[in-house]
Parts: sequence; structure tokens; C-alpha cells
Amino acid sequence: MADLERVRKWAEVLIAEHLDPAEWSFGFDHAKKRAGLCNYTQRRITVSRYLAARYGDDEIHQILLHEVAHALAGERAGHGPKWAQIAAGLGYIGRRTHDGAVVHELAPWVGRCPAGHVHYRYRPPVRALSCGLCRRGFDRANLIVWRRREITPAMRRLAASAGAGATLGAGDTSTPPQPLR
Ligand SMILES: [Zn+2]
Ligand SMILES: [Zn+2]
Repeated sequence: MADLERVRKWAEVLIAEHLDPAEWSFGFDHAKKRAGLCNYTQRRITVSRYLAARYGDDEIHQILLHEVAHALAGERAGHGPKWAQIAAGLGYIGRRTHDGAVVHELAPWVGRCPAGHVHYRYRPPVRALSCGLCRRGFDRANLIVWRRREITPAMRRLAASAGAGATLGAGDTSTPPQPLR
């Protein structure tokens, strides 16, 4: 679990180093389904207070690099090659968070736990899974109910263009659904 004041410190150091601190600021938000956000209008990078408390230091650091790269690359870059190059240059290796951003938008299997946490999968889950955000370790009380959705060409286009700016971090990126053991 990352200490929130430390997260703020890292963010401010990264902003001072790579962006204009007179323009860009950092804050926490209350999102539960994505870890980070780069708001180009307000020139503000935010990280979910809720997920920050659940992610480890390394993951939070990667989320910050992901968002700083968005700020540097500009909104139109999306998660395209320009963004990817800048992100890699900053030391972003966060395949888990990055894959999360892509996986979530296009994964056909969407699951919800009784508390409403959303999980995504490419393949139909073969075993009963319980929500890793609600509780570590399998617990039938937190069982995820899955449904299949249609991924349309329009959704693919949207994911390619509109995915910019948000790191979608939910259960399966940092706290994977807990399999029945
Ligand atoms: Zn849950
Ligand atoms: Zn992103």
C-alpha cells in the first residue's frame, strides 16, 4: 500500500522535472475504475485515492509515468507510438497498467462483484473467481458474475482514439480476481 503523501511527492517531482509546474498540478480523485487521469483542460494529473491505497509503490510510480507521458505527448497521441516512445523514455514499463488500459476497453468479458467492482477478461473465466479488490483470497461472498459483451468495430475505433488520458486500473491489473483454490 502506497503512502498518499509519498505519492504526491513523487508526482510533484515528476511534474517539476518533465512539465511546467506553473501549469501542471497533481491531485487525488475518487475514481474507482481507473487508476490515473491526465486532464488536458485543467492541466492536472490525478490518481485515484481509492486505488492508490491498494496499489504498491512501484505500480503507483508507473501510473504516474503513464500520465506524465500523456501530458507530454498531448491529447491526440492517445496510446499511440508517440505516447509509447515518451512513456518508455520516462522509464514506463508498466505493462500491467498499460495493458489494463487496452484490455479494459476491448475485453469481451465483463464481470461484477456484489460490491460493483468491475473486472475484465479476454477469455471466458473457466473457474469461479471472487473479487480481489473486496478481499484477497477466494471468498464466495465476493463472487464475480460474468457476462459477455459484443465488441463492435465502433468500440475499437473509440478505444484507439478516446482512450487517451486515463489509465484504467481495476481488479485484474493489480489485484487479480482470486481463483477458487
Ligand atoms: Zn469487489
Ligand atoms: Zn493512458
